[in-house]
Amino acid sequence: MTILNCAAMSCVHNEAGMCQAGYILIEGKDSTITTETKCSSYKPNKFINQVKALVNTNYVGEVKQLFSSMDKVKMNPQINCQASKCFFNSSGKCESRNVAISIDKSNQSKVMCETFVKSNNT
Ligand code: SF4
Ligand code: SF4
Repeated sequence: MTILNCAAMSCVHNEAGMCQAGYILIEGKDSTITTETKCSSYKPNKFINQVKALVNTNYVGEVKQLFSSMDKVKMNPQINCQASKCFFNSSGKCESRNVAISIDKSNQSKVMCETFVKSNNT
């Protein structure tokens, strides 16, 4: 399972640096660098998005996390990824053991996959 940490604290799915979404989508079919990738599941933490987020919440992961220490990440989303040029991408699924999602502080809508590594095969 991929362990995901996320620095986008303004996202409705972010809980203390972890992602409580059931699944996320990383966009960037032609990405060759991190800044061209995008977590399209990012939603600003507003009331309307809090309501919408209820249908994409990893409730099982949340319960597991409740019974774990905060330094052990148990709550991880399923990662679907369109960044096919990434070394860790296998038919649209992320195979990295760890993924770090970062946010551009000057552009809060720019949320990207820091773990992206360009594959030598592309
Ligand atoms: S990984 Fe994406 S959906 Fe999950 S908390 Fe971070 S920005 Fe939000
Ligand atoms: S590490 Fe690569 S395959 Fe995994 S989510 Fe990031 S861009 Fe996609």
